[in-house]
Amino acid sequence: MDKIRMTTPLVEMDGDEMTRVIWQWIKEILIEPYVDLKTEYYDLGLERRNETDDRVTVESAEAALKYGVAVKCATITPNAARVKEYNLKEMWKSPNGTIRAIMDGTVFRAPILVKGIEPYIPTWKAPITIARHAYGDVYKNTEAKVPAGGRAELVITDAEGNETRQLIHDFKDSPGIVQGIHNLDASIKSFARCAFRYALDTKQTLWFASKDTISKTYDHRFKDIWAEIYENEFKTQFEEAGIEYFYTLIDDAVARVVRSEGGFIWACKNYDGDVMSDMLATAFGSLAMMTSVLVSPTGAYEYEAAHGTVQRHYYKHLKGEETSTNSVATIYAWTGAFRKRGELDGLPELCAFADRLERACVKTIEDGVMTGDLYLLSKLENKRKVSTRTFLEEIRARM
Ligand code: NAP
Ligand code: MG
Repeated sequence: MDKIRMTTPLVEMDGDEMTRVIWQWIKEILIEPYVDLKTEYYDLGLERRNETDDRVTVESAEAALKYGVAVKCATITPNAARVKEYNLKEMWKSPNGTIRAIMDGTVFRAPILVKGIEPYIPTWKAPITIARHAYGDVYKNTEAKVPAGGRAELVITDAEGNETRQLIHDFKDSPGIVQGIHNLDASIKSFARCAFRYALDTKQTLWFASKDTISKTYDHRFKDIWAEIYENEFKTQFEEAGIEYFYTLIDDAVARVVRSEGGFIWACKNYDGDVMSDMLATAFGSLAMMTSVLVSPTGAYEYEAAHGTVQRHYYKHLKGEETSTNSVATIYAWTGAFRKRGELDGLPELCAFADRLERACVKTIEDGVMTGDLYLLSKLENKRKVSTRTFLEEIRARM
């Protein structure tokens, strides 16, 4: 059999620990026998980031913007323990944060559904994709305690030095607390464009919500910017694609999500996305079955698994013990990237390969062959727990 040819390389971002081991095995067992794999390789493993003073991360993100499609392995975000463990020159920043900042992108997370692992909400028939605005609000706040008798004011000084003042609260009788938050029109616009583009791309209806009835200037600005961008840039394309843009209040959105059948994209403000993405991930079953894609407003894509490097399994692996680590989300990062590359380059065989590999993953689990994390959750009667490597071989047999 001839291998499937690629024309443009994928930007390959290798990573750390157990996911780095799985990365090699996925390529060896499931990809290289079938695809004449072309990648531009960046090693984002912590050692290489340390050697290059983290330049490799920046270069990989620039390559993602240049070529348009990247696939990333999970990476360690250093903390004090990692600085010691890897003898680091510095506590390097989160690679995902660096890449997101360079691509000015929004992260979309979607669960992979399989029979036997049912969502906690029985009406959910299709995945709900969640996107979180990753700039500002409470995550870049300034806050203070105010003593009794103090006054807090909001002061804005314009470019000419003119001040406008608004009273926040007069703390006459009781001490209290105060918080200042901000956001930028430019960031809200990028967020909206990423979400509209991804909705068109995946042909799914898009929801967005805020608390504009209470926050008549701040949240209302989000609502207005989204409405303006939809009207001016996306409305016609949405109508042609037969999808909708739906705006509502955040509490109404939460209620409707629970009653829904799924199958749409839910864009959230920063805090709502932080909270709701954990709720959705848990309700759909397993973090190891959650995919993630970073979409830039210019239409560049970086695919990855939502989980981390699975450190605990890696230490077992290093000791020569058998592991049962779930590779599905990492495989879907590859298939997402192949499908997108195939669409951009007009290579239907590459898209078909991605579909076939995904179907083989689902079939393997639905046949009862699964890793330990799913074994604990699956309601199938004939289920069998297999090792990390056997799981990949079982997928290959079905492909
Ligand atoms: P984690 O790697 O997601 O793992 C946490 C636990 O979840 C694991 O110990 C395991 O539970 C379970 N799990 C996660 N993925 C699994 C899989 N594919 N198969 C089976 N079980 C899985 O999170 P962490 O331990 O908090 O973080 C480890 C490292 O990953 C950290 O250095 C962190 O900085 C990094 N991280 C990277 C990313 C990223 O690159 N996107 C995201 C998150 C974290 P059991 O041990 O109970 O089996
Ligand atoms: Mg959270």
